[in-house]
Amino acid sequence: MGSFMSPLSAWLSASAFSAGGMWGLLNVADSADIIATAVFLFIILRLFKRTKTISMAVTVLVVVVVIYAASYWFGLSTLVRILKLLLANIVIILAIVFQKELRRFFELINVRRLANIPARIKDVFVPRHQRDAVEMIAHTAWILSASKTGALIVFPGKESIEGSVAEGVDLDGKISEQLLLSIFDTSSPGHDGAVIVDGDSIKKFGVFLPLSDKEGVSQFKKFGTRHRSALGLSERSDALCLVVSEERGEVTVFRDGEARLMRTEADLVGALREFLDENGNMAGNRTPAVWHRVLRGVGADALIALVMSASLWLFLTYPNLAITQRDFDVHIEVANVPPGMTIDRIQPTEASLSLSGAEGDFRLLDPSTVRVVVDASTFLKEPYKPYYYVGLTQGNARYPQSFSFVSLSPKGVTIVPSVSSTTKP
Ligand code: ATP
Ligand code: MG
Repeated sequence: MGSFMSPLSAWLSASAFSAGGMWGLLNVADSADIIATAVFLFIILRLFKRTKTISMAVTVLVVVVVIYAASYWFGLSTLVRILKLLLANIVIILAIVFQKELRRFFELINVRRLANIPARIKDVFVPRHQRDAVEMIAHTAWILSASKTGALIVFPGKESIEGSVAEGVDLDGKISEQLLLSIFDTSSPGHDGAVIVDGDSIKKFGVFLPLSDKEGVSQFKKFGTRHRSALGLSERSDALCLVVSEERGEVTVFRDGEARLMRTEADLVGALREFLDENGNMAGNRTPAVWHRVLRGVGADALIALVMSASLWLFLTYPNLAITQRDFDVHIEVANVPPGMTIDRIQPTEASLSLSGAEGDFRLLDPSTVRVVVDASTFLKEPYKPYYYVGLTQGNARYPQSFSFVSLSPKGVTIVPSVSSTTKP
């Protein structure tokens, strides 16, 4: 392991205005640590949103290992501690990362109650009006399904779908059961095509979506143009498309080029909520466009990463900055003994060296780097004597530069050299 001194931290501790373990200004090393940790968390947050499962797991693992190596080398202690913590809790992390897959697994083995726990916990945090809107839409889908009325509703994700869709009539009306039912009423001239939802309103109706060309896939064989267009848009964008089948009355949700049959109204509520949790809400008054983008996008993640990083530093690293003092009992060494001479005796053999430094630095200190050394050339300048008395001062102490000298005792040592009779080189 070695002492936790890297080229960077050595340079930083030499040049930094030290925080001295007090509530003072952060020094350069601490700031570098916090920023590096924030960048790491930011990358992880972004990865969580972008990539998918397996490729994401591999990417995350590679990123973690590379960053661990780099942060160890650069002496970024908060980052090193977090990564150690991450690696130690890998099972819990995997469970969080693969939450969706676990939930699907539980659904598969039919432990529905268990599968719904995450959704139920989320319920607590989801605003009431959003729950109402989601439940209203799911309920409407079931009414349409019961009367075998075809319907296609699109919920755009983070990406714009403008480039992928065509035609359509502008509406901008608050979404409601009555409005949806009248749009999809087969006797209405606008029932063909899709409805585009934006926030809590219907932005357009009669919109045409790009058809999927997944002709060969058997799962999609039964699909006509309504379902194929929903699949097509879900392949080209991160939108969610909800289809009610005119022929079978089935309710299907399309996301990321995959179809999920909704067996119950509750299934649909769950699927819509999951999507809205990831892609913003259906709240009536939306935040202005610029702030919306900042809060929902990169800005929010950066802020979250920075806050997380700063608090981790505060809780994990700051306690390690407390300045303490430690005593080390070390053997006194004699260096630069000329050839042909040996040191018979050092009296006393041990010295007690007191150092002060950060708690965390002591924990990472390699004890072999703490030494007391007497240079033979200094006392051998005097004429030959059977023994020499050499004073011990701070200059004899060797320790990593992140620590400072407090005291050294005894104040001197007696050294008895002897010149060997057989002077061989
Ligand atoms: P269903 O199960 O409801 O019959 P389906 O997948 O079999 O659906 P079709 O029977 O071909 O599809 O449904 C035709 C209807 O799908 C059209 O009347 C129209 O409303 C809708 N539709 C067809 N093509 C598109 C498209 N590109 N974009 C949006 N809606 C479309
Ligand atoms: Mg059909």
